[in-house]
Amino acid sequence: MDTVFAWLQGSGSELPEVYDVPSDGTSRYQIKIVKALSDNYMYLVVATDSARAVAIDPAEGEKTAALCKSLEIDLVAVLNTHYHADHSGGNAFLASALPGLEVVVGERDVDRTPAVTRRVQDGESIELAGLSFRCVATPCHTRGHVCFFLDADDGQAPALFSGDALFVAGCGRFMEGTALSMRRTLHALAALPKNSRLFCGHEYTVGNLEYALSLEPSSNLLKDRLDAAKAKRAEGLPTVPSTLLEEQEHNPFFLALNSEGVDDLTELSRLRRGKDTFTFPGKIITMVLDVQSYFYPPVDEEIP
Ligand SMILES: [Zn+2]
Repeated sequence: MDTVFAWLQGSGSELPEVYDVPSDGTSRYQIKIVKALSDNYMYLVVATDSARAVAIDPAEGEKTAALCKSLEIDLVAVLNTHYHADHSGGNAFLASALPGLEVVVGERDVDRTPAVTRRVQDGESIELAGLSFRCVATPCHTRGHVCFFLDADDGQAPALFSGDALFVAGCGRFMEGTALSMRRTLHALAALPKNSRLFCGHEYTVGNLEYALSLEPSSNLLKDRLDAAKAKRAEGLPTVPSTLLEEQEHNPFFLALNSEGVDDLTELSRLRRGKDTFTFPGKIITMVLDVQSYFYPPVDEEIP
């Protein structure tokens, strides 16, 4: 399904839109938010002492390579949160263009991800461009989905690259996992520092906050955050990053873990189904995925 979407959306070698996340002179790295396809975000983490860079989820290889060249950045590694083509679609091009490129993915998505050179497990740290990225297993959207956590202890808040596991005010579809998998995933993410900045894989914030507000129509917090997100989008700006603290305040899937008198697994399933069918296009996609899940039923994925 993602392959079809990626193909329909096309690709090219022109320079993508890029937004620099503010950092200061003491920062060991700088993050660049890079627009890809229709609503994906890829990220570049650039080590400030060497201009070496790590790309997270480079959906478009030619654009990523062109961007690195224009910025005089040496791309040394790719981190994939999961195998879907709108996250790993640039792997093959980059691996052929940049000999020696490290391509990293979670161990359970290895077989479905192009050009992998290294697999990582939950809790494992990997040194790239002089920076340490910790793998956090977050299965559910795919069996092998992982997030990458970066804390350089340099005064800037840690960064969490969450792919399609966790979005601003939402989470990814349960394509290969169940509510139980998502509960484990959310607990694993909730254990990270609350000031961590969340860099997710898609610009879905406005739709997610509209859904959250439909569940809690009197919430001023949600109204304010929806207005702020709409204002940013009206200026053409990304709504990422949020923080894990903000997510635990407004994200209905996090809130489901703590709602008293409610079975959180039932609630997670209900919330996800509600979001899947919240819009008309969502209903159509859900019908297609329901057929797919009849043949490939989701599993209660353990965090290995
Ligand atoms: Zn995905």
